[in-house]
Amino acid sequence: MKIKKIGIVGAGQMGNGIAHIASLAGYDVVLTDVSGEALNKALETIESNMVRQINRGLIKDAEMAPALKRIETSEGYELFGDCDVVIEAATENEEVKRQIIKALCPELRADALIATNTSSISITRLAATTDRPEKFMGMHFMNPVPVMKLVELIRGLGTDEETFKAIKSLAIDLGKTVAVAEDFPAFIVNRILLPMINEAVYTLYEGVGSVEAIDIALKLGANHPMGPLELADFIGLDVCLAVMQVLYEGLGDSKYRPCPLLVKYVEAGWLGRKAGRGFYDYSGEVPVPTR
Ligand code: NAD
Repeated sequence: MKIKKIGIVGAGQMGNGIAHIASLAGYDVVLTDVSGEALNKALETIESNMVRQINRGLIKDAEMAPALKRIETSEGYELFGDCDVVIEAATENEEVKRQIIKALCPELRADALIATNTSSISITRLAATTDRPEKFMGMHFMNPVPVMKLVELIRGLGTDEETFKAIKSLAIDLGKTVAVAEDFPAFIVNRILLPMINEAVYTLYEGVGSVEAIDIALKLGANHPMGPLELADFIGLDVCLAVMQVLYEGLGDSKYRPCPLLVKYVEAGWLGRKAGRGFYDYSGEVPVPTR
């Protein structure tokens, strides 16, 4: 199947990153979100990230304008009728994703593929809410999308080989390397990464270390490029909590219970970088620990 036009649902940090790399790779893109503000912010972010790539010599100046021109935005699915593939990258909440799939499917061509960028939710269960489980699978990009090289590919129980091959070639064409994961809660990367982040929050909660001490310890002691709390803020604490809940409920093991302090930060709306505050406050020149 020849993929020319990609629909993206959700224009947050992941949706705008996917739109960014897809437009630079020459695909036509239509980006939708329930929030018009998110769409405007996404276009601004894409442009400023492309400028940064030009300044670093990663892309040519002349590539930016045509790429930006290839991105259309809309608050509904009316421009999705000629999409070859749709990538769902909305909020990590199963009910939200189900509602999106229900509204989206009737607007699509019968042969259009659907991929979800979910970090943790069952691909097979989401596939069952579509009218085309064989044309549905997981395509899990990493954050920030233009920088991170990996895409995890996850087949649902009914995903057919043609769909898998088409999504795999798309990921490779977007410059990514793929790793194939089975459809179990949080797949590979987040099955390993999120319990570590959750443990870092427990370490803070129990007073074993301060935010600063925990992050320095893992950066210098384990050679991690970012500390776990810094990384949690970067991912989004709501996303981290949602993934831990899926692991906890999906695997039924108490070792995955979300740290109450993580829950408290999310309830406060301190969601990390995207909210301006999480384990660090981002309002000044340098991030300042909030505990
Ligand atoms: P985000 O909060 O930055 O963006 C989510 C966007 O979805 C928001 O703009 C919101 O308005 C929009 N949205 C909510 N309901 C919608 C609907 N019904 N229709 C259309 N848009 C809707 O979140 P994000 O970090 O971009 O995460 C998006 C998806 O990507 C999630 O499934 C998440 O698990 C996954 N993901 C996130 C990361 C990460 O590090 N943040 C990494 C890989 C995958």
